[in-house]
This record gives sequence, structure tokens and C-alpha cells, in this order.
Amino acid sequence: MDLGICDRVALVTGASEGLGFAVARALAEEGAKLAIAARRTETLEAAARDLRERTGAPVLAVPCDVSRLEDIPQLVARAAEHFGDRLDILVCNAGGPPFGRPLDLNDEQWQQGFELTLRSVVALCRAVVPHMRRRRWGRIVAITSTSAREPIDGLTLSNALRPAVHGYLKSLSRDVGADNILVNTVCPGSYLTQRHRDLLPRWAADQGMTPEDLLRQREAAVPLRRFGEPIELGRVVAFLCSEPASYVSGVSLPVDGGLCRGLL
Ligand code: NAD
Repeated sequence: MDLGICDRVALVTGASEGLGFAVARALAEEGAKLAIAARRTETLEAAARDLRERTGAPVLAVPCDVSRLEDIPQLVARAAEHFGDRLDILVCNAGGPPFGRPLDLNDEQWQQGFELTLRSVVALCRAVVPHMRRRRWGRIVAITSTSAREPIDGLTLSNALRPAVHGYLKSLSRDVGADNILVNTVCPGSYLTQRHRDLLPRWAADQGMTPEDLLRQREAAVPLRRFGEPIELGRVVAFLCSEPASYVSGVSLPVDGGLCRGLL
């Protein structure tokens, strides 16, 4: 299927590795022009080189910590300017909030989680919508988590803040639909990225298990009996950013191998 996004300009945040990188790769494979952002210049530049070599896509790397809300207008302006004053696609992604049980998190962790997980999405949307409105075409997708649907033990910040991201984006989808801007969220299940590798020992200790046993238990809990490959999520996001997805908005889509049990 031709996704019809060749030469569309896309900004993907948190794109130096993991799921964000896979989304950037899937969009680049469809011919999109890319601006990618993450905090560390060296890993970000390496990711940009990798994407250019794999796909031949033009890739602009803009170092940015999306939890520094004051830096977001500049990020969006640079991305748009670089590609002829346009920005068609935004994929909001970043690192997940840290492990923490409900009574253990301090105020600073709540504030940081709020800025990283919710406020960054709000600030990115505010900055990109005017570009999309001007051309009456836009796609916004946020990568959240199945925690927005079913809480994950120990990931309190995620359990509390991801539903807020869904609430915000559902509201936004209603306000910008008339401008032909589609807004959706995807909820990843389990993917063995750096984040997952970093969390495993903490989770395992919490449950009195070894990381290896916990990994096996988590794989067995997925109806497809395996973790996802990041590119499997990347391609779903690319579809939601595409022309054929032109009547899909306000949706929250688990990409989890069937893990979530909810019927709707
Ligand atoms: P990851 O840690 O492997 O990669 C995160 C990417 O975001 C990296 O490029 C990192 O440099 C960048 N990043 C981190 N903090 C940033 C910031 N403040 N500003 C800009 N860039 C930043 O994570 P991942 O596994 O790819 O997960 C991506 C998102 O999906 C996270 O929010 C995570 O919680 C969520 N998620 C992941 C899984 C999974 O199984 N991997 C499952 C559910 C949800």
C-alpha cells in the first residue's frame, strides 16, 4: 500500500533509539522528510546518519530535551524552517517516567513526570498545529503505553499521567478535525528496548524474581507469546500518519500483541 506521505515533513521526538527511532525509520522508508529530536547530540547524530544511510531520506537532527518546555517552540521552528516552512506530521515520544510505587514518589518526581509525559505533548501540539492548519493537513500521534488502559504495577507515574495524555489528545482531535488534522495515540505493549532493559531488574526485585524469569513470564503473558519488534510499532504509527488513514482520528490503539484484555 502506498502510504502517500512521500515528501511530507515529520518531526519525531525521542527518536535516537527504541520505539521513536523505529517510527522515524518507518516514516523515512515511506519517503517522509524527517526532523528528529532527543537529548544527547552524539547519539542523535548517529541515529540521523543511520536513517540517511538506510533510507536516503533527508534527516535533520535537533538536540532537545522535550521536558524543557521553553525549548519546544524553537525545536518546532527549526524543523519547519529547514524543510521550507512546513510541518505535516508530529510523533510525540520520549523516555518513560521512572519506576515508583504510589506512596514512594516525591513531589519533584511528580513534577518531572508531569513535564516529561504530559506537558511536553501539550507544548509540542501547540507549536505544530498552526503549521498544519495553514496547509489544512496534519497528523499527530503520541506514543503512550498500555498503562493508559490497565495500570502496570510499579509504574505509577505512567499509570497516572498517560490517561491524561489520552484525555488531552482526544479533546484536541475534536477541535482540529475541521482543519483536517488527525490526532491519535498508540499504546505499546512490551518491546525489549533500552527502557525495558533498564526497568527489568527494578521490576524483578520488586516482585522477588530474577530479571530472566520476569522476562519469560512477561513474554508468556502476551497472547502472541513474544515481545514486539520496535519496527512493528513504527509501521503502525506510519500508517496512522498516512493518507489512507484519513478517516481515523481520536483513536487510542494498543500495539501489544493482544496483551490488553479490555474489549473496547
Ligand atoms: P527508550 O528509553 O529506549 O528510548 C527513549 C528515546 O527518547 C531515546 O531516544 C531517548 O534519548 C529519548 N528521550 C528520553 N527522554 C527524553 C527527553 N526528555 N527529551 C527528548 N528525548 C528524550 O524508550 P522506548 O522503550 O523506546 O519507549 C518510548 C516510549 O514508549 C516511552 O515513553 C516508554 O515509556 C513507552 N513505552 C515503552 C514500552 C516498551 O516496552 N519499550 C512499553 C510501553 C510504553
